[in-house]
Amino acid sequence: MDFSIPQPFTEEMDRFKLFLKKHMVPKLSNWYRDREIPRNFFRDMGQGGWFGIYLKDNELTQYSALRSELIVEKLASISPGVAVATLAHVDLGLTALYLFGSKQLKNDYGKSAVRGETLMCLGNSESSAGSDVANISMTSEKVEGGWLLNGTKAFITNGLISDLAVITAISDAAAPRNKRLSMFLVNLAAEGIHRKKLNKQVWLPSDLTRIQFKNVFVPGDHLLGERGKGLQQVLKIFSYSRVPISALTLGTAVGAFELAVAHAKKRKIFGKELVDFQAKAFEIADLYAKMEAARLMIYRACEALDSGNDFRLEASLAKYLSVMTAREVTTWAADLFGAVSVISEHPIHKFPMDVWASSLGEGTQDVQKLVIFREIIKNF
Ligand SMILES: Cc1cc2nc3c(=O)[nH]c(=O)nc-3n(C[C@H](O)[C@H](O)[C@H](O)COP(=O)(O)OP(=O)(O)OC[C@H]3O[C@@H](n4cnc5c(N)ncnc54)[C@H](O)[C@@H]3O)c2cc1C
Repeated sequence: MDFSIPQPFTEEMDRFKLFLKKHMVPKLSNWYRDREIPRNFFRDMGQGGWFGIYLKDNELTQYSALRSELIVEKLASISPGVAVATLAHVDLGLTALYLFGSKQLKNDYGKSAVRGETLMCLGNSESSAGSDVANISMTSEKVEGGWLLNGTKAFITNGLISDLAVITAISDAAAPRNKRLSMFLVNLAAEGIHRKKLNKQVWLPSDLTRIQFKNVFVPGDHLLGERGKGLQQVLKIFSYSRVPISALTLGTAVGAFELAVAHAKKRKIFGKELVDFQAKAFEIADLYAKMEAARLMIYRACEALDSGNDFRLEASLAKYLSVMTAREVTTWAADLFGAVSVISEHPIHKFPMDVWASSLGEGTQDVQKLVIFREIIKNF
């Protein structure tokens, strides 16, 4: 068992930190003010090779999950909201294309998505269907040359900025629950689509959008994967994206932790620095230990994924532990800053809010426990 990070990855991370310093950090306060991530940031990320999927010999190819973990964790330690916009594009939208897209679709859309020129999102959730992924109401009716989509997707990250959405809909209403859904690649400029950006305080500056479909025509060759397999396909995508969202969540904890420790070393109370109170030193040690434990679990999930093994249990354990840890770390960190932590513009303010969002994306803590239980009970 080798726990060391391969040398090429550490060198790449040095380059990534420089990339963020140039392309994100100086602009971030404007993005938060405007609640918008400019499209050229995605182009810079894609062309820099910082997405988890890239072109190798003209084919969509996945980088090592461990490399992506390091990138996402670093990005989220500065801005969990920018990290989630990247995740929605790469680990939801583009991953659907990578796993289930035809050669033609990959060629037509995948290549520009890898370069960050075409942006993607994935919409499964509706007002009636979040944890209960299969309980969607959106319909897809077979018509001459394609499908007509009707319904509303409720909470879609990148729904506003994306060009393409991966959408699940009922294609076979009379079929059993596990054969009713299909998955489609939808051009969001199509007639009949109406998008409304929702007002939120978490994961800024990414957008959360409701997308309404009224008789939206989708060509037949834009069906992703197999008709009737939409549920299995979307669950598979969520298993994949649980690994990067765990990294994102850990990065959220790391970002708050680093700010708080720096503050504890400076802030004087009762004549000495906060860090010199043994109570605070013990809290720092305790939380650091928990972050390391969550990180090891994420590395284990990456290792299972990279070696082609079943990684569902590891992915859910990683998500569960990283959310639990990040909740504790970020509220502790905000507390350490005292009153100033409630001011919206203060850098610490966003972190506890962003963990709140992390706990919902790719399955709540209850959903992770369901997966963990299902996986472990097989062996008893
Ligand atoms: C910021 C943000 C971004 C999002 N982005 C996307 C996106 O890009 N695409 C997309 O499709 N969706 C997205 N979502 C939706 C997200 O996936 C759902 O919110 C999440 O799955 C929870 O579903 P729900 O909101 O319907 O809550 P519910 O499913 O109604 O859950 C309510 C409560 O019930 C609990 N619960 C669920 N199942 C069980 C059970 N079996 N036993 C006991 N308790 C249970 C849950 O843990 C929760 O506490 C996003 C949500 C947010 C907040």
